[in-house]
Amino acid sequence: MDKIIDFRSDTVTKPTAQMLEAMMAAKVGDDVFGEDETVVKLEEKLADLFNMEAGLFCPSGTMSNQIAIKCFTQPLDEVICDQTAHVYRYEGGGIAFNSQASVRLLNGNRGILTPELIEPEINEENIHYPVSSLVVLENTVNKGGGKCYRLKDIEPIHNLCTIKGLKLHLDGARIFNALVATGDKAADYGKYFDGISVCLSKGLGAPIGSVLLASKETIKQAKRIRKVMGGGMRQAGYLAAAGIYALDHHVERLSIDHEHAKTLQKALKEASFVQSVMPVETNIILFDVNEKVTAQQVVAALKKQGILCNTTSSRTIRWVTHLEITPADVDRAISVLKSIKI
Ligand SMILES: *Cc1c(COP(=O)(O)O)cnc(C)c1O
Repeated sequence: MDKIIDFRSDTVTKPTAQMLEAMMAAKVGDDVFGEDETVVKLEEKLADLFNMEAGLFCPSGTMSNQIAIKCFTQPLDEVICDQTAHVYRYEGGGIAFNSQASVRLLNGNRGILTPELIEPEINEENIHYPVSSLVVLENTVNKGGGKCYRLKDIEPIHNLCTIKGLKLHLDGARIFNALVATGDKAADYGKYFDGISVCLSKGLGAPIGSVLLASKETIKQAKRIRKVMGGGMRQAGYLAAAGIYALDHHVERLSIDHEHAKTLQKALKEASFVQSVMPVETNIILFDVNEKVTAQQVVAALKKQGILCNTTSSRTIRWVTHLEITPADVDRAISVLKSIKI
């Protein structure tokens, strides 16, 4: 049996041997007491990189996003985001549960918001309306097929939020994919956002972890909220060490994942069962199947050939490239696409 090619998500990667070595060698302590030097090092490293004051290591991207939303809102406030946003769709309704805030959903182009879309949705002061207090952007946009914001798109959104007194948070689960694809600098992001969540367990290949970046004052509050959510971890330095290793060794290589995704995009366009492929910008490929098949049938047929992927609707399938996908895997996937009968 050939190796299984797993395109389901960039979260499926396991730590490499070198990453495991770095984890084993970590100096650790009790991070709830603030005594784990490896966690502190990771938090400072990312804060410096993004030009933010401080960082907070969290077990998941969901938790770092939800903590940020809690810090930046009061009950009865409203959060503005795209209708495809992870914070709204895939965090279990956490905005209502954790923050008692409502959500205003916008229709961006593949999840990309603009000041023109946001401004009319900011509520005027009126007791009938929830208080618009936070805008959340996602970069790259997961449901937008890995589409990127450029910094020049973010600057006018930041300016609008400043004028209107709203906070701006970035769900940067795949921010490094965006940075590698656009050439924008991480350090420039700190100027525009009140909060940034960075995932280490997506394309960067760490087993666990996300870091929330913000001002020192916000991180102080965020630490309380992390504790109440049950996210205060003890010798978490073993996990933070994987994050540090990933930042040192797995960022530049993301361009390989992007190349693989572009190569696969071409092959998918020619596959007999494909209707259309969303233009690829990073490591996510979203494609629609034609009317002769369902997405489920295609997923099942690919699985028989050792290729794993998931549907995102009855007609749409998602493939994600990551550090365990080799050039040989890409070649085999292409030959399967050419030969497959459904
Ligand atoms: C994966 C992801 C997250 C965080 O998810 P966790 O599984 O909780 O780490 C947040 N936002 C986006 C866009 C994601 O893709």
